[in-house]
Amino acid sequence: MIEYVARSGPPEAMNCPAFICDACRQQVVGAGIVTWATTIGDGRSRTHSQSPLYVAHKGECGRKVEAMLHAGYPASDGWIDLWDDIGDFLKQLTHNATNAFTDDADGEYHQHRLEGASTNGRMQ
Ligand SMILES: [Zn+2]
Repeated sequence: MIEYVARSGPPEAMNCPAFICDACRQQVVGAGIVTWATTIGDGRSRTHSQSPLYVAHKGECGRKVEAMLHAGYPASDGWIDLWDDIGDFLKQLTHNATNAFTDDADGEYHQHRLEGASTNGRMQ
């Protein structure tokens, strides 16, 4: 998940946003992924659903989070899992933070339903 990590020390205490691996709970620096489960909608009659975003180091941690996604969002119910490199995710997120979907005359953004978000941050 993307989480705030508390930091003490000079020049002042602060909360630092970071990518925290959902498999090993360590900070992801460099090679990492964001991953999520989704059902593909068509923007019209089929609903597009997705899980919360999860974070993992590439490799063994990524495979563990993938297994957790498969358990919580089974393929038999139409779920597939997707992933993106953290660097590519950040580029898109930065762009989308200052460019409204409604101002994009070329694209169509589909509604989606978030499923599985929990109040304790743990996958259900
Ligand atoms: Zn990890």
